[in-house]
Amino acid sequence: MDGLDDIANDVLEVGQQSVDFEFNRGDTHYLLTKRYIPELNWFLIVEQNQNKAIESIWMNFIKSTFIGLIVSTLVLFIIITSINYYNSKLEKLAITDELTGNFNRREFIRIFEKAVKWHKKTQLPFSVMLIDIDNFKKINDSLGHLVGDNVIKAVTETCGQSVRENDLIARWGGDEFILLIYGDLNSSESIAQRIMSSLKTNSLVEQLALKGCEVTLSIGITEFASDDTQDSITARADRALFSAKESGRNKVVAQQT
Ligand code: GH3
Ligand code: MG
Repeated sequence: MDGLDDIANDVLEVGQQSVDFEFNRGDTHYLLTKRYIPELNWFLIVEQNQNKAIESIWMNFIKSTFIGLIVSTLVLFIIITSINYYNSKLEKLAITDELTGNFNRREFIRIFEKAVKWHKKTQLPFSVMLIDIDNFKKINDSLGHLVGDNVIKAVTETCGQSVRENDLIARWGGDEFILLIYGDLNSSESIAQRIMSSLKTNSLVEQLALKGCEVTLSIGITEFASDDTQDSITARADRALFSAKESGRNKVVAQQT
């Protein structure tokens, strides 16, 4: 038979052991196996076109690889999406005050540094405003901590409605808030007055006023000077806030640089 010349003698050699051969017929490679069947005293010789035999294995391999690739891509996509989702949640948590949803002190400090760079580039003014709720302990003590929490939220909401979109509101701690206002001392003072008068029209504040509990704010403001650091400007705003408290509370004090 075509292609078998070279192995014919070995194939036909009598012997009971099983033997495998390979040969070429034309361009095709063949596998040939010889087995002895003792019950029949026969030799069973089978030849198999290797290309066809491998074809189905190859197809299965391609199918499995393809499915594996799709499943891996899908799993990878789900993992990356979940990681990104939780990452952005964590990032947001790290910069947000839980009660008010405003930025926290750490984020204020980061944005302050950006504002300093912006000022150096543009020479435009910006100011820092410290707001503290007057006699807040009394509100907590007489009406409860939950009402106190709601008053804190009302104050930050009012601040949000009274500033411009670029301005920044952060919770400095407890009943104290810090604002970064992109404007000079005068315009920041107007914003502070607006916050004070808007707070009076807040529904919770109105309800508390009817019960004889006035919610007022003391505010200290100062404008950024070129040699200021974050510590020096907040210390100056704090001194202005202290003056507002000292002069009877419910006041805005603007401190020149
Ligand atoms: P002053 O006019 O001098 O500011 O008097 P004050 O009573 O407001 O005094 P201070 O600002 O020192 O009081 C802050 C209080 O705020 C003390 C603390 O128990 C309370 N506080 C701090 N954080 C929270 C909070 O998240 N929720 C509530 N309800 N109270 C808080
Ligand atoms: Mg206070």
